[in-house]
Amino acid sequence: MTPAAAQDFLSLDTMNLSNYAYIQNYIGGDFCEPRSKTYLDNINPATAEKFGQIPNSNQDDVNDAVAAAKKAFPAWSVSKPEERFRILNRIADLIDEHLEELALAESTDNGKPLWLSKRVDIPRASSNFRFYATAILHFSTESHVMEDKAINYTMRQPLGIVGCISPWNLPLYLFTWKIAPALAAGNCVIAKPSEVTPLSSFLLSKICKEAGLPAGVLNILHGDGPQCGSAIVAHPEVKAISFTGSTRAGAQIASIAAPQFKKLSLELGGKNPNIIFADCDWEKMLRTTVQSSFSNQGQICLCGSRILIERSIYEKFKAAFIEKVQQLKVGDPMEESSKQGAVVSNLHYEKILNCIRIAEEEGGKILIGGKAVHPEGRCANGYFIEPTVIEGLGPQCKTNREEIFGPVVTLQPFDTEAHALELANSTDYGLAATVWTQDISKANRMAVQLQAGIVWINCWLLRDLRTPFGGVKNSGVGREGGWDALRFFTEAKNVCIEI
Ligand code: NAD
Repeated sequence: MTPAAAQDFLSLDTMNLSNYAYIQNYIGGDFCEPRSKTYLDNINPATAEKFGQIPNSNQDDVNDAVAAAKKAFPAWSVSKPEERFRILNRIADLIDEHLEELALAESTDNGKPLWLSKRVDIPRASSNFRFYATAILHFSTESHVMEDKAINYTMRQPLGIVGCISPWNLPLYLFTWKIAPALAAGNCVIAKPSEVTPLSSFLLSKICKEAGLPAGVLNILHGDGPQCGSAIVAHPEVKAISFTGSTRAGAQIASIAAPQFKKLSLELGGKNPNIIFADCDWEKMLRTTVQSSFSNQGQICLCGSRILIERSIYEKFKAAFIEKVQQLKVGDPMEESSKQGAVVSNLHYEKILNCIRIAEEEGGKILIGGKAVHPEGRCANGYFIEPTVIEGLGPQCKTNREEIFGPVVTLQPFDTEAHALELANSTDYGLAATVWTQDISKANRMAVQLQAGIVWINCWLLRDLRTPFGGVKNSGVGREGGWDALRFFTEAKNVCIEI
């Protein structure tokens, strides 16, 4: 491809995304319209303007994608790991090469600051492909020897066609976190990004074609959850579903997939505690707590939305935290100075503002924020909300039990380790928890008793892709990452040979 052709292939003009007014499905290596010929609007949340349309795919498109995947599976499933490594690594290279365009697409679709897309979302998408490109070269079978009787060996075979469904908060980051291990393990994939943020995955389909991924190995469908997502889940040829999204949708998916005995990986909502003891490293804790509260406008499933503070430092923390939060500039995602961008959609904007109203009705005191923001200029009608800090609410109220998934945190004091644990574990969720203390024994005692799949001690969002990722309780079932994902996307078959 010449440089000019490459430019044409992926180019996005900063303020004019008209090249992508109509994005298309990617089925059997071709770009196609939805069978219904109907489209959904794609809105830029920073301006509230429609900037494109996306296929409103349905059962017919899912059937086409399954047919294409079925055709591709026999060859892909027995392709050499070195071949899969080469193609996945090439996809990673192309993501890196097109970082600028992909980041622009992500921030336009999602409202997150462009600098964040460039530093976090897009680099992580290429890391996902690179990680699983390499992992499949080292994924080995197990063997169990029964002394002088027999030898067992356990094959790990690809499942066939699998479904990957992802949310809008970290669009390409989470989409590729599923697709990369599924492909590396030799499966063919039907993938659906969120209908709210489809653009980066459309660009990914172009990248996959350019990287030489054989036709039908990856099929990307665009559309909503109830029609397109549930058709993927229900299709009898789809053997496993890897889903990240809300607990509500996760429950619906499980109700369809479980009676068909499909493998299920569900990464769902969270209401994570951030536990701060008086003996913490103050500066590091404060700096990180601002990030863990408000990064990506609080729209990360791992954000610590309930800040629990040892009573002796409660007032000191409150004053210092508010001072820091005041400095977070909310504004145009395209400006480097904006620390906070827009929330993802009008629906979500209204939901968050309603949650703030409920917090007030429950007796919460808003210490800072609580209102919509209307920046001057092109973003005047966008969906911006002030970073909001609330105190005075106990563990039983809705605000401290239900996921808000926006720039809203609560403060609660605690007296003892036991009290901190009681507050931390008092929700139906159990995704992640953060603990700040210099006392390693105390930190370990907390880690053992916290009801969470992930515990960070004196850090937040520090990710090693080899570690198991997932939640307990209503935060999900199964683990992603490392070997866990490759095991999920393969079926174990034990062979026993008598000696
Ligand atoms: P959502 O559940 O509304 O949608 C997620 C995806 O599922 C979208 O692609 C959607 O179209 C699809 N979908 C919706 N209903 C479906 C159905 N019945 N059948 C099949 N597919 C369906 O979630 P969202 O609003 O896009 O994302 C926010 C949620 O995701 C939050 O709850 C957040 O905590 C969660 N999340 C969890 C993790 C994690 O790793 N645990 C990571 C990011 C986000």
